[in-house]
Amino acid sequence: MTKKWVYLFTEVDQAEAYVGGSWDGVRGLMGGKGANLGEMTRIGVPVPPGFTVTTEACNAYLAAGDKFPEGMWDQMMAALKEVEKASGKKFGDPANPLLVSCRSGAKFSMPGMMDTVLNIGLNDETAKGMIQLTKNERFVNDSYRRLVMMFGSVVLGIPDEAFEEVLDSYKAAKGAKLDTDLTADDLKEMIARFKAVVKNHKGFDFPQDPFEQMRLATEAVFHSWNGKRAIDYRRKAGIRDDLGTAVSIVTMVFGNMGWDSGTGVAFTRDPSTGEKKMFGEYLLNAQGEDVVAGIRNTEKIANMAKDLPEAYNQFMDITRKLELHYRNMQDVEFTIERGRLWMLQTRDGKRTAAAEVKIAVDMVDEDLITKETAVSRVTPEQVDALLHPQFDAKTMDEAEKKGQLFAKGVNASPGAASGQVYFDADTAERMAKEHKQAVIMVRPFTKPDDVHGMLAAKGIVTSEGGATSHAAVVARQFGVPCVVGASMITIDLEKRVMTANGALIKEGEWISLDGATGKVFVGELKTSVPNLEEQKELLTLLTWADEIARLQVWANADYPKDARRARAFGAKGIGLCRTEHMFFETERLPTVQRMILAKTHEVRQEALNELLPFQRSDFAGLFNAMDGYPVIIRLIDPPLHEFMPDEEKLFEEVVEMRVRGETKGLAEKENLLTAIRGMHESNPMMGLRGVRLSIYMPEIVEMQVRAIFEAACDETLKGIVVKPEVMIPLTGTVKELEWIQPRLVRIAKQVLEEKGVKELSYKFGTMIEIPRAAVTAGEIAKVAEFFSFGTNDLTQMTFGYSRDDAERNFLIKYVEEGILEKNPFQTLDRGGVGRLMQMAVTEGRAVRPALEVGICGEHGGDPNSIEFCHLVGNNYVSCSPFRVPVARLAAAHAALKHGKGLTQDL
Ligand code: PEP
Ligand code: MG
Repeated sequence: MTKKWVYLFTEVDQAEAYVGGSWDGVRGLMGGKGANLGEMTRIGVPVPPGFTVTTEACNAYLAAGDKFPEGMWDQMMAALKEVEKASGKKFGDPANPLLVSCRSGAKFSMPGMMDTVLNIGLNDETAKGMIQLTKNERFVNDSYRRLVMMFGSVVLGIPDEAFEEVLDSYKAAKGAKLDTDLTADDLKEMIARFKAVVKNHKGFDFPQDPFEQMRLATEAVFHSWNGKRAIDYRRKAGIRDDLGTAVSIVTMVFGNMGWDSGTGVAFTRDPSTGEKKMFGEYLLNAQGEDVVAGIRNTEKIANMAKDLPEAYNQFMDITRKLELHYRNMQDVEFTIERGRLWMLQTRDGKRTAAAEVKIAVDMVDEDLITKETAVSRVTPEQVDALLHPQFDAKTMDEAEKKGQLFAKGVNASPGAASGQVYFDADTAERMAKEHKQAVIMVRPFTKPDDVHGMLAAKGIVTSEGGATSHAAVVARQFGVPCVVGASMITIDLEKRVMTANGALIKEGEWISLDGATGKVFVGELKTSVPNLEEQKELLTLLTWADEIARLQVWANADYPKDARRARAFGAKGIGLCRTEHMFFETERLPTVQRMILAKTHEVRQEALNELLPFQRSDFAGLFNAMDGYPVIIRLIDPPLHEFMPDEEKLFEEVVEMRVRGETKGLAEKENLLTAIRGMHESNPMMGLRGVRLSIYMPEIVEMQVRAIFEAACDETLKGIVVKPEVMIPLTGTVKELEWIQPRLVRIAKQVLEEKGVKELSYKFGTMIEIPRAAVTAGEIAKVAEFFSFGTNDLTQMTFGYSRDDAERNFLIKYVEEGILEKNPFQTLDRGGVGRLMQMAVTEGRAVRPALEVGICGEHGGDPNSIEFCHLVGNNYVSCSPFRVPVARLAAAHAALKHGKGLTQDL
């Protein structure tokens, strides 16, 4: 039996059975659009009769070198018969013609990226028949000229402009402003002229055979899966290339049949803010493309209540039903034909990050979805976007006062951006990619061909179009700040300038735009980071994420203010305080240098005694900020030369002094230079640093441990709950720990005794950042009370890639060439570094079952790496304070995907 390639909208049950019952499977097979047309039919929503050719058919067609798979066309013809029965019309029959649209639709929506052809079935004969039936010659001629134009451009590949020029010059000659000003006879003339365009470009006539039209349109849709813009979009959206598109053949219904007809698009909630109110536009006496193209000014959907009250009420009922059914905000397209409402499409609506969060939280409150669903709907990237820079109100006020306001349009996609203006997608992309510029793409309006430029841009401005225009939809989806319909801007594409509000901006000059207010400014404005505390819905969502997650999220913070921010962002501990950062402060550095250069123990100790109070107050501030939570303090890690003046600069100074014959201070400088040269190492990252330095020069860490425990005791005595954890970096063998740790523990105990503190829970542990430590973790865990993976160094040492140099030269090429899937310094290398981690956790816990395990390398804030940390059995991940909210969500996603259990097969 040949395979079933075609499903009627009434056969969605069969499609579901074929894919084993999963809705995801149905979407994969019929495409999102086809699946939803079937589903709407199943739940009794009025959908024009039709059928879907599957994505499997598309893939088979493309794989066979553009040949329909066996049986597909026959099945389409059989389905067409059923559609004819349901609609009471006949395809190609002049007496009562059935017209159809041929629509693309992949599993994941790719708005405007692939092709669609309307009014298939019209030819010279059926057009005559339609005129007889409808008594509306203007409407029929309009539909026919649209078919010739769409078919010409989409199926036959003739540039749009060839048709637009003909139309525009005709309109100009006639003095017609809008398409609706054209009469039936004008449109008849257009049909003839458009046909001539086809003939001129292709050398053959526009096909009159309706079946030929359907066949060619189906092929064109299949091909559009591999069009440039579809491929660009898939790359950015992370959609696989092998999914293919389905083709839905849908009975045409007409919104341009008179003033009791119309068409529109709507979102069931506001896609910008998430507010629960219908958001959309419609046009009376128009066809769908008129709304999307923004050629005529649309009306707000609420006005439909007075224009077409019955259809409006039915529309509101149906959209409520659809939201309840899909339990998500819907993006719908509809047409009213002579008072009768038809739903042409429903899909989960694209929305901004803020709207995503608000809708998810609201829907939990409305009992539509569970907290788990709400958390799983929001992506880490969306949370990230909500923490992205914005212009604050004051900056914008000041800019306005200074006369920098250039234009105002529709606030289509929030976020602030500044950059250099470019007026076409190719230049915008080139300037962003090759010249590394911050780019703002400015266009009259955008089309799917412009997507590559839009994705490369930091912001988008259009002078035409509305909140559901192409520019707005694409920008919102990818979180690119965008202002549309800024109609006071006049763009001169020839001269490469734009003007508004008395100002002229040339290509390459700077502007700033605020996607939240729709304002565009001349010049570069300063951005500020949004306040998480004010984002109530996000805070609620993240609290749910914490309930779901097993992994805790801690933060890397060196100063009390960072710790406070981390805590406000939801961190449950400090996973890494890099103590050496405190040594770099201006008033401390000379003492640190004196300590390093000391020739005797006494001189060194004296300098350290000066540093101790500084360190003690640093740690006290951290403990205070993290009251009740653990704070991991890492003992000094970097090579000593990092604290010393730059050798080359010092040398230059010495030479200069000698040349000028200056003697004052010369001897000191010369001595310093000799000392620095004495410290020189060829590979300092692998030299005297970390625990090695502590063993070589124990006085520094002895001072640090004293400072930690004095601060801990002082804070404890004030009633703060302090949980210090002392972390020894760069351990390679347990012998190192056996040498240093007991000395440090002795100091801790001594301080506790001195301060009279009886109860203080503290730990001594180590970083696992050298492969040998991971491999011998069983031995190390006998001494270390906790592990923290320093995956920056562990990645460096596992690959043997210098973390300071690799990204500068070969690493990016490695990723481009596919030698590495991802940059391993950003996303944890599961196959190598990850296996070392797994080994370390298993062996460590075999010796010390309650061993606390965390990660404090950069990977601790990366969602993919966080998932791995969940799988490997970490207790927490630690990342920069700004990444804490994203990490909390990622930790919840990992638990939702893999369960909360500790032991996992990797
Ligand atoms: C690490 O190596 O992952 C780490 C956190 O330490 P640092 O980056 O300070 O070397
Ligand atoms: Mg390190």
